Amino acid sequence: MSNHSFPRPEEPTPRQAREAVAGRCDACGESALMRYPLLSEGGWYLVVKCQSCLHSQQREKWQRLGHVTLLTDALAC
Ligand SMILES: [Zn+2]
Repeated sequence: MSNHSFPRPEEPTPRQAREAVAGRCDACGESALMRYPLLSEGGWYLVVKCQSCLHSQQREKWQRLGHVTLLTDALAC
């Protein structure tokens, strides 16, 4: 055993940034909503997306804070 491979995030958002949201998807009715930061053309948004059909239930402008700043640093490497 060695520490040669430090685990790196492979997804645009780290898993710990995802937060389960109570409620049901407007599109498919599944209670599979998750809230997480998403980088799009206009910058960072905090979205609530259905993990079943990927419908965007909610979307709001979001500042770059905390772990997202760290993630940006990681992606720049
Ligand atoms: Zn859905």
